[in-house]
Amino acid sequence: MRSICLLGSTGSIGTQTLEVVLNNQEELAIVSMVAGTNVPLFAEQIVKFHPKKVCMKNAEYSRELEDELRDRYKLNSESMPEILSGMDGIIECATMEEIDIVVAAMVGMIGLRPVISAIEKGKDIALANKETLVTAGHLIMPLVKEHGVKLLPIDSEHSAIFQCMQSGGYDEIESLYLTASGGPFRHYSKDELKNVTVKDALNHPNWSMGKKITIDSATMINKGLEIIEACHLFRCSIDKVKVVVQPKSLIHSMVGFQDGAIMAQIGTPDMKVPIQYALMYPRRPRMSGERVDFSKISSISFEEPSENLKGIMLAKKAFEIGGSMTTVMNAANEYAVAAFLDEKISFVEIYELIEYAMDNHLVTENPSLDDILLVEKETYEKLDSYLQRKI
Ligand code: NDP
Repeated sequence: MRSICLLGSTGSIGTQTLEVVLNNQEELAIVSMVAGTNVPLFAEQIVKFHPKKVCMKNAEYSRELEDELRDRYKLNSESMPEILSGMDGIIECATMEEIDIVVAAMVGMIGLRPVISAIEKGKDIALANKETLVTAGHLIMPLVKEHGVKLLPIDSEHSAIFQCMQSGGYDEIESLYLTASGGPFRHYSKDELKNVTVKDALNHPNWSMGKKITIDSATMINKGLEIIEACHLFRCSIDKVKVVVQPKSLIHSMVGFQDGAIMAQIGTPDMKVPIQYALMYPRRPRMSGERVDFSKISSISFEEPSENLKGIMLAKKAFEIGGSMTTVMNAANEYAVAAFLDEKISFVEIYELIEYAMDNHLVTENPSLDDILLVEKETYEKLDSYLQRKI
């Protein structure tokens, strides 16, 4: 039996993780769960999965949750889980003695401290939260080694590469091919991008995901973040990581080895496959779902990523500069995406804000966790005043 802490249970990855747990109840159990603000769904999940400890974003939501569990679901002091709140509570959930693996599926840099604390306590990590490696890969990868834990990717591209890597060594990699759908705007001109609405950007052609990653996919920042994630996870230099646009998302990524062989992982787009692979690794129990029917596929097409979508260029630049610059790029993107979703800025201004933050940052080499959190805060403050000046 594997005991799981699920961070971000009410999100897109979180809810799909719970489906995987339901399908493997003899082997997987939820021991603790964390959510942000969605009290009704979280309460429903708690009643179904019986975690011992749960945590919400702050005390107000936790109080609401307790009321909901008592009044609606009639839980009493014996059946009620321990309810915590805030960052200390999240860390407590992620580091419980009996936890074997933490599923990191909260969105954004909020996932950083719980993941580091869990690794320090010897927990394996199933990682969806790519922002963690983007900002602190230089801290996390050595910690993973020091504590002898497994870092299992959930991101579909990195899971695909990890699966391909079962057939070769890390020192035998020639190229990593990260596939991309290209998002809804892959053929848009610079002028057309100026008129993109929030609704257009949330309309991803192949995947149904949380709002932040859906916007990141439209700007191609997501692919940029994935390049950095891949460099850390697979100990690869950035020049070995190539992005290939494959609009139907049939190939989830590929590894080219030094003998010229290329391994590809193929399947219908379904995040439950990488989630189950991470939770059950190295086994592959049966999972129902749509299968690829090759008789219905007449071709697989590939394209170069659009240069009008500057996400890949910005993320690569940040990684090449290094130090605290990846945190600035990531924090500025989180800020800008939230502002875009609130309709405070346009789609192309997401790039403008990231560029402004990067151009006005003095790099700290080898940033500590405290440095990273400080740089995140400073970036938010800088962008607040930049936007106020603009308005
Ligand atoms: P969602 O927005 O759907 O879910 C985010 C989760 O985090 C929710 O459960 C939310 O709670 C919780 N959360 C947010 N802020 C806090 C907080 N302060 N304290 C506690 N919980 C919080 O995101 P996704 O599931 O789409 O993505 C999660 C991560 O996985 C991201 O890093 C993303 O890049 C990555 N990823 C996602 C993929 C996907 O298919 N969705 C694919 C590959 C990677 P609530 O909703 O209750 O507020």
